[in-house]
Amino acid sequence: MAKKGNGVIHGLSCLGNTIHGMNQYHLRLLFKTCVIPVLTYGSQLWFNPEKPPNHLIKTLQKVQNNALRRVAGAFRTSPIEALQLLTHIPPIHITIRKISESAALRVFRLPLSSEVSHRLPSTFIPVSTPRPVHVPFERPLLRYHTFSHLTHMVRWSAPDTERSDPFHSHCAPYAFQLSSPPFHGRLRIRHDPCVKDKKLGRTIRHENLFQEYKEDLKSIFVVTDGSRRNKRAGYSVVIWHAGKIITKVMVPFAQEASAFDAEMYALAHASSLIRKILTLNYDINEVYLLSDCSSALQVIFDPSPHPSQAASIMFRTNIHAIMTARSDVFIDLEWTPGHGGTHMMKVADLAAKNAANPKSKRAPLLSFTSKSSAVQDINTAPRTRWRLHLDNPNHEIPETSGFYPASQYIRPALRPTHHPHFKDLDRATFSRFVQCATNHGYIGEYFSKFVPSRRSSNSCSCVLSSDQPLLQTRDHVLRSCVQFERAREHLEKVCPSLHHPTFSLARLFSPSAIPALVSFLKESAAFSKSHSPPLQDDEWMPPPQDETVFNRRPSQPKDPTPSG
Ligand SMILES: [Zn+2]
Repeated sequence: MAKKGNGVIHGLSCLGNTIHGMNQYHLRLLFKTCVIPVLTYGSQLWFNPEKPPNHLIKTLQKVQNNALRRVAGAFRTSPIEALQLLTHIPPIHITIRKISESAALRVFRLPLSSEVSHRLPSTFIPVSTPRPVHVPFERPLLRYHTFSHLTHMVRWSAPDTERSDPFHSHCAPYAFQLSSPPFHGRLRIRHDPCVKDKKLGRTIRHENLFQEYKEDLKSIFVVTDGSRRNKRAGYSVVIWHAGKIITKVMVPFAQEASAFDAEMYALAHASSLIRKILTLNYDINEVYLLSDCSSALQVIFDPSPHPSQAASIMFRTNIHAIMTARSDVFIDLEWTPGHGGTHMMKVADLAAKNAANPKSKRAPLLSFTSKSSAVQDINTAPRTRWRLHLDNPNHEIPETSGFYPASQYIRPALRPTHHPHFKDLDRATFSRFVQCATNHGYIGEYFSKFVPSRRSSNSCSCVLSSDQPLLQTRDHVLRSCVQFERAREHLEKVCPSLHHPTFSLARLFSPSAIPALVSFLKESAAFSKSHSPPLQDDEWMPPPQDETVFNRRPSQPKDPTPSG
């Protein structure tokens, strides 16, 4: 696996080096989509977090480190923790654990009659489930300590996780759809949310609509809302008729569920209430339903095995029953702004919040771990684990490290979305940004520490030959080197105390100062090879590994000088 991964990485290295080539954002994407699946193939079977097989992880980590240097355009000596933070790629064992957890969740899509289901521990499927005819063996008595790859894998998930059913009759090709006869033209679902500026307009329109419906005795107005507090979810359904509330339900939904589940089950519950009302009152033939959850409205009529599939099937069944029993009924579902929305929404919102109150003594409707809540946990846990990894004394960034100032602000983030410089910067500038953040770059301070064989002076070229030599440090380049006076104006704008002796370099890496630092790097050639201390005439230094990619020289002598 490591060999194959390395092969792909060598392929990636043709696409970019420290100066030219593909942007780091796209290289990272290629690494995640082309290398990670190769490296982690089958890892669900051997990975055990209690006894992590360190020798295997180490091998894979080495391959990943190699890729990270290429993505970041960094020097070979750069601390790996720094590169992980700068490229938003966590250590490989965290990625593998996430993959294992996601795989474990797939067990809940299997039918109970599947052979694999019958090999699960008894906590996962009821013991009373009859053995299907096609399974030729008795159900094995598996316990957690019994070794089996499957039992090892499923331990990641709670046995009461929500099941989904891809083989439900509603998912069959012949099942009814929104365009099918009973619904066509009579059931409208408009899930599109509007942009911020148009929210007020939408709210006013819905308020006006409510006033119109007040006069109309043939219609009902329904608003649903879901809420989540401390992982406990609750929902509410409020129904108005002739301007008065005729039904208001508040349901504490589940202990381990997301707001999305609550919204979905609120819609399902609303459909059953509407069905009841329409069966008893033949005068009512128009229903207007509002919800503030666009994603729930989008999938409420979709029976595929998505999270809260059961709510969708319940909704479809009720609406189908209404539409086939009454040919005069019209139902309209629409998205409405949640916060600062209509007064009807505020009533529903308050009720949902009360239902989700963790202090409430009412027992929740369902005792399960919802699929979307489990997925949410799987997606957020890696960041927490990464933080813990960095707090570990073996991996924490020491104060002596060149990356220490930057590490005060650059913290674990799994997505580069909140770091626009990562996506927008060109290859060369990002590489210099990485060199500036890690202090592993073309500067005298680095050469004096890591390349002792170098005989040239490490002093900054701004010093005249007659003056005393001055070691070219990162601090000097950023704060006082006369060569970058003009570009430094960007830094001085955001950090007026830049020249103060107590100024900490860490502040330059704060989210508000990074754009200025980037402008400084763009306008000057700081941290580039052309500004590194000059070599002695007889001293030859090979270019960094990355730069030779386009024009590779065979059999160069190995040198401890940096290579990117
Ligand atoms: Zn200087």
